[in-house]
Amino acid sequence: MIISIASGKGGTGKTMVATSLAASIKNDYEVQLLDADVEEPNSHIFLKPTINNIHYVSIMTPLINEERCNHCGKCAEICAFKAVVTIKDTVLTFPELCHGCGACSYLCPRQAISETPNQIGIIETGAAGNISFVQGKLDIGQTMPTPVVRKVKEHIDQKKIAIIDAAPGTSCPVIAAIKDSDFCLLVTEPTPFGLNDLKLAVETVTQLSVPCGLVLNRSGIGYSNVEEYCHQENIPILLTIPLSLNIARFYSEGIMLVEGLPEYQEKFKQAFSRIQEIASERNSRT
Ligand code: SF4
Ligand code: SF4
Repeated sequence: MIISIASGKGGTGKTMVATSLAASIKNDYEVQLLDADVEEPNSHIFLKPTINNIHYVSIMTPLINEERCNHCGKCAEICAFKAVVTIKDTVLTFPELCHGCGACSYLCPRQAISETPNQIGIIETGAAGNISFVQGKLDIGQTMPTPVVRKVKEHIDQKKIAIIDAAPGTSCPVIAAIKDSDFCLLVTEPTPFGLNDLKLAVETVTQLSVPCGLVLNRSGIGYSNVEEYCHQENIPILLTIPLSLNIARFYSEGIMLVEGLPEYQEKFKQAFSRIQEIASERNSRT
């Protein structure tokens, strides 16, 4: 079973929810936590895993054979990302802009383009106690998180409960992380921004046909529109976490919510049972 944890905006407590969910069910199920927020992975701060292996992530980028090239400009014309440019009798390549689609080498009329790997990130694997741990890290200066997210997901163990901590927002790396999940747990806060970005996140998971539920973090600040929206849209609120100085302090010290406040374990377990019910109802319909 694959559960992705996402949020329309950053700073809503998504990683707090992902790590606490994993820690709450780890003694009842085999659990895997995959950090797919590859531009800023931080679940390791809370889980403190031991890393055993590092895998390198590369994409194939063009390498020009100057002897074969007749500077026809076809490669520059076809590249939608301006990763290859022709200037007079020179072909310049910009690997950091390349999406590795292979179109330029495929269409070069002189077979003057071969492909060479360009490292864009790493995948680290290990364990935090009995939780299997995987995290992707995009290399500094690289601009292509999505292939790293896909590599993170290649490590999903179908026999385990895989919890994916996605990046915030609704862009391509988030879609890559959520796609094919059995359930998406959205985390938001009761503010106008939280509601606006929740609506975008709900639209995204609906397009992906992934059922969703909500964790309402920092609740109790007097803005009820998020609850009203969930009620209207039939989105179950599976867990409510109040605005609390104590919780903020645990978070800032890298302490998991369920470590600092163990009574939350039961609440996360109940949320997980509800996720299982919703996901199995959906799977029985498809
Ligand atoms: S398409 Fe091939 S031959 Fe034409 S400019 Fe590019 S590399 Fe050179
Ligand atoms: S592989 Fe694709 S993205 Fe990269 S330079 Fe060639 S056409 Fe552009």
